[in-house]
Amino acid sequence: MIIMEDVTKTYSSGSDVPALNGINLHIQEGEFVFIVGKSGSGKSTLIKLLLKELDPTSGKIYVNKKYLNKLTRKKLPYLRRDIGVVFQDFRLLPDRNIYENIAFAQKVVEAPTKKIKSNVLKMLSMVNLLDKYKSYPNELSGGEQQRVALARALVNKPALLLADEPTGNLDPGNSWEIMKLLDEINKQGTTVVVVTHNMEIVERMQKRVITMKKGIKVSDSKVD
Ligand code: ADP
Ligand code: MG
Repeated sequence: MIIMEDVTKTYSSGSDVPALNGINLHIQEGEFVFIVGKSGSGKSTLIKLLLKELDPTSGKIYVNKKYLNKLTRKKLPYLRRDIGVVFQDFRLLPDRNIYENIAFAQKVVEAPTKKIKSNVLKMLSMVNLLDKYKSYPNELSGGEQQRVALARALVNKPALLLADEPTGNLDPGNSWEIMKLLDEINKQGTTVVVVTHNMEIVERMQKRVITMKKGIKVSDSKVD
């Protein structure tokens, strides 16, 4: 699912110290993996490389059997179509209601109209927000907004879900709610990679944990 071979990323605009330094990483299909580490350790850079929002300075990256180094701009949508993404700050469209926010992701992939409705309703039911489908993002709590973001990330049935600090703005109750949903999604077959600071959740979930420090992978609870 994900292979990184000796990946280094140095930002041209930043310091000469690499944001990521010699990362080797294998994540199999169906895994649930936490990526932890202090602020500035390179976690978001790693996620951006997997989405090809950034290119590595050196090293090779494969995602969903695609060799990202050689992937052309034209082929980028095919990569991203297979990846659901969730961020700390939800990133919902403020001028669209909840239904439209999720349906929008389906329109991008040109799903048939009838299918869109049933898929969106299925997702709203999964995240327990059917009764809020007409609400706007600013009328929802943080926990609810993140559940909408999760529904939107999953409506196109991606093989891989990347979540960059999805519970960073949530209280413990809502954080746990989101984690249980991620676990559920993983059990249904989606590979899940979660960046987090929340060590209490990480310990409770008992999943594979990769620890980053200053751009280096310092530990991995799975030997590969
Ligand atoms: P984390 O997500 O673990 O907090 P980041 O991947 O965001 O870490 O950042 C890793 C390092 O790269 C930090 O030192 C950060 O300052 C630097 N960095 C991140 N984004 C940029 C950028 N766009 N330009 C220059 N430096 C950056
Ligand atoms: Mg980050």
